[in-house]
Amino acid sequence: MRLLEEKINTDGIVISENVLKVDSFLNHQIDPKLMNEIGKEFAELFAGEGITKILTIESSGIAPAVMAGLYLDVPVLFARKRKSLTLFEDLITATVHSFTKNETNEISISKKYINEDDRILIIDDFLANGQAASALARMVEEVNAQVVGIGIVIEKSFQDGAQILKDHGYRVESLARIASLTNGEVTFKHEKMEELV
Ligand code: 5GP
Repeated sequence: MRLLEEKINTDGIVISENVLKVDSFLNHQIDPKLMNEIGKEFAELFAGEGITKILTIESSGIAPAVMAGLYLDVPVLFARKRKSLTLFEDLITATVHSFTKNETNEISISKKYINEDDRILIIDDFLANGQAASALARMVEEVNAQVVGIGIVIEKSFQDGAQILKDHGYRVESLARIASLTNGEVTFKHEKMEELV
């Protein structure tokens, strides 16, 4: 997605060979117009798949997921990282090791909002080693709902996540793919010419 790549080029900060900081438009401050375009793109990619719900994880997945939910006209559910006093229904839980924070969190969603008839689109901000997306997929499958696909805003293709998810048979659609972050520079991965349009 050209607009997203341009934004990464102008506003992204390469923290290390493995980490990109995009706090100015996705992870702290949010660019609503860009989120709108991202939501539209996800909706086009997954149109006709009979998606009934989007599942993401707090907090940075919520903005792109909500915009996609608006265009697909489906509710958006987000997994919580902390136990909430108001989240006392039957819970589905999974553990996720956070790539950026180097800590393990238990994440949960209420069984009230997901069931075996659901066709779920998982959305997240970044894909690194695939821990977050895999945990979300496991939660969906625990209630026998179906994972229709995984939509990622920024995939770091030099890490294992995308391949692991594809090897599991999931359809992964990433709006920007990063081939490397070496020498403080972002290099994008383009497989097909049409991705540039
Ligand atoms: P994974 O679970 O695929 O290993 O990592 C994905 C999660 O880690 C995302 O939800 C995101 O919050 C965080 N993450 C991974 N890599 C990066 C990165 O380069 N920059 C930022 N800002 N977050 C990242």
